[in-house]
This record gives sequence, C-alpha cells and structure tokens, in this order.
Amino acid sequence: MKSKVFQNAQAELFEFLGWPQKKLIKKKKALDYWVPPLVKLHGVYVIGKHQVELKRKAYQKGISFRVLPNDTLSVTTGLATSLKEIHEALSIHWKWIQKQWGMNKTLRTLFVQKKWTEGESFPFVGESKTLNIQFSKTTRFYFDFLDDELRALVPEKFYNKKNLEKLNSALRQFYKREAISYLSSRVDTWASSMGLFPKSVRFRAQNRRWGSCSSRGDVSLNWKIIVFSSEIIDYVLIHELSHLKHMNHSPVFWKLVESFCPNYKKLKVRLKEQNYDSDFLSKSSEIYMQNPGWKS
Ligand SMILES: [Zn+2]
Repeated sequence: MKSKVFQNAQAELFEFLGWPQKKLIKKKKALDYWVPPLVKLHGVYVIGKHQVELKRKAYQKGISFRVLPNDTLSVTTGLATSLKEIHEALSIHWKWIQKQWGMNKTLRTLFVQKKWTEGESFPFVGESKTLNIQFSKTTRFYFDFLDDELRALVPEKFYNKKNLEKLNSALRQFYKREAISYLSSRVDTWASSMGLFPKSVRFRAQNRRWGSCSSRGDVSLNWKIIVFSSEIIDYVLIHELSHLKHMNHSPVFWKLVESFCPNYKKLKVRLKEQNYDSDFLSKSSEIYMQNPGWKS
C-alpha cells in the first residue's frame, strides 16, 4: 500500500530533479573507482549489499538499469548478454546507481520521520497527541504526555534539520520508557485474567514483528506497538500469552485467543493496515519498504 505511494513519490521527485529513473547503456567510459562484484548467493544475484533482479528479454537492445523503491537493482538485458558484460555496464554507471540508492534513503527518511513542527500529531495508545514545543537553553530533552498533548522541551541549539536524528532518538527513548511502563502493567493484567504467566517479558524494537513467545515461556514484545489502539495492543498481548499454552497457530490456539479477544480477526486486519504507523520510532537504518507482513 505505502510502497505504491512511495513509488509515486519517488517518480515525482526524480522527475523534479531531472534524474532519469531508467538508464540505457550506450558508450563505455574509463573507470577510476572500484565496483563490487556481481555474485549469485543462494540463487539470488547480489551486488554489494543490494539485490539484483535480472530480466532477460529477446528484443532488448543493450542493458537497462532501474533502482526500485525497495533498493533492488533491476537489470534488463538481451538473452545472450554475459554476466561479465553486465558487470562492465554496471561499473560504467555505478555512480548513477549509487545516487539512486541515496535518493531512496533520503525519501524513506522524509516519509517516516516526524518534521517536528508545532501541532504535528503523535500516536500513543490509540490517541493522537499534538506536539507542543518549548525551547530550552540546556542540552537536555524533556518529554511528557499531558492530556492530548505531547509536550517537548527541546534544546534550542538542536532544533534544526541537521540534528533531526538526535531529536528523533530522544523521542524514541521517551516513547520506549512510556511504552514499557504501560505494556508491563497490561501484560500483568492479562496474565492474571488468562491464568497464563510468562517466565519473563522482554521488550525489543524489531521492525514490524510485534511479539514472540519461546517454548521456555519467555515472551518478547515490540514496545513500538504502543502507537496502536489499546484494543490492538491487547490483542497482541493475548496472542503472545496464548502461545504459552499452544506453541502454534492451530484452531485451538485461535479459540483461546478468541475467548479473551472476541473481535481478534478485525484487529488482526487493522494491525496490518496500520503497520507503518510505528515507523517514526525506528532508526532510519531499520526502515525497509518491503516485507510489510506481520509475523508472530
Ligand atoms: Zn503467534
């Protein structure tokens, strides 16, 4: 869903900057930089840390490149083009390709990160909190939820684009603290009413994996679920606690979930739809546009 939006945004931005999205190779140029080899790993072509999708077409003239929104490098060639020839063409246009990856990264950051403007909204347990910024002369951040506001005391000297990652990381720490406190008490409540007690509860920040439960009875929760509604949060907790009894997704497992969360099916769908809402709490390096599925 979002990756479609992202794709359009990418196209628009590239057009605005006058960058072609597709590169058709014609002439050779001299090389003065190193390009990683094009290798096949477990049946997948890879260059550096990026995946390469190789398409061969009978009527293709030359080689054409395209960097997809998920960073996969798509290469279209004729039927007889050798890997050596492809790598040569890649080498010639390596700088262009790297520029596309850089753009994707920027775009992804723009997409998920908050802009830190007055009145911007931040989700917390299903509520939308309005950002109210105050500036301080110190170097310390202070956050608080007050009624329907997220009050932020921000060091004046960090309030600029250059320090966006610093601002986000301070916010992340605050959210994490709040989340752990809310979720811990929620887990206790559900454990008591379900009569299922985990051996331990750990909080982690995985990317779109909301919770897990080990066979030894250790439950691990993604604290970023704090951005969802209390109903969805409860569903995730009930789901993981139910695994203490059934280590699978069998019909009996779902029966148990249903007995404590009658509309779990609806909540499951809603969770999937709101998948990306927690992305602003991720480090930019953790964001991937692919794999939007939910695992538990
Ligand atoms: Zn599960």
